Amino acid sequence: MGRTSKDKRDVYYRLAKENGWRARSAFKLLQLDEEFHLFQGPHLAGVTRAVDLCAAPGSWSQVLSQKIGGQGSGHVVAVDLQAMAPLPGVLQIQGDITQLSTAKEIIQHFEGRPADLVVCDGAPDVTGLHDVDEYMQAQLLLAALNIATHVLKPGGCFVAKIFRGRDVTLIYSQLRVFFSSVLCAKPRSSRNSSIEAFAVCQGYDPPEGFLPDLTKPLLDHSYDPDFNQLDGPTRIIVPFVTCGDLSSYDSDRSYPLDLEGGSEYKYTPPTQPPISPPYQEACTLKKKGRLAKEIRPQDCPISTADTLSQ
Ligand code: SAM
Repeated sequence: MGRTSKDKRDVYYRLAKENGWRARSAFKLLQLDEEFHLFQGPHLAGVTRAVDLCAAPGSWSQVLSQKIGGQGSGHVVAVDLQAMAPLPGVLQIQGDITQLSTAKEIIQHFEGRPADLVVCDGAPDVTGLHDVDEYMQAQLLLAALNIATHVLKPGGCFVAKIFRGRDVTLIYSQLRVFFSSVLCAKPRSSRNSSIEAFAVCQGYDPPEGFLPDLTKPLLDHSYDPDFNQLDGPTRIIVPFVTCGDLSSYDSDRSYPLDLEGGSEYKYTPPTQPPISPPYQEACTLKKKGRLAKEIRPQDCPISTADTLSQ
């Protein structure tokens, strides 16, 4: 497979490189904004402070800092488990959003000056076991919501990736407790074949007397599985909206390399290569011709060989 094959298979991957975005996900946030006017919505006068949870490699942070524009460092706070290459105007925190210490670090930053927008594009390492993946995804979303309840200003907006699985109505119900409007949106750049969608929650309006509490996760681990199905009057059905111009590219299709018809295709390298990818060790071994080769004691330094032969 040549390096152009992904450009053919995934038009948004290609367009992201050509437009200087670090990841194709940038188009998801842009298309959500086209539909919901996230930066100037009905509930907000204008976004000046935002949090990007699960931000690496950083294309959503790029969009946020461009949209907020020229506000200086600290107006966008980006958080991820993985290290992220620096971005001008974006303050970065490396940490796990489900951990109390990370949540506290983010909240500290916003004390006295709350955020207008919290976004979370978090995804767990997918196992292929749907129940496990959906559960992990829900945990990330709820960790993000918990952080949002500490940092959002009234009227603020929360956008989070959601897997439309079996228990999704419980999540919608929890979101509806805190926001006057909750919708489920699917941007054109998100593949139809993926259960991914985005919960778009506008008008932050917590119940009277609600006190954010980091020590109490919003999902109760001991909940009754029947309650989880939420039937009858407790069942919340939220509107489902597809967004992004219908004439824009279809993320499930392959496109020829001459997109414009006739204009010559030129390969564009990724905007920001991963800074410490998990496959780095394999690449180093491959360069040395040692990948997938048995390591024999005679190939090892003397001290290791001694250990192996013991
Ligand atoms: N929105 C990003 C962008 O535009 O570049 C892409 C995000 S990527 C789809 C999902 C990210 O979630 C990964 O970088 C992963 O490290 C992060 N993540 C997963 N679990 C996390 C956790 N518990 N805390 C922080 N980040 C997490």
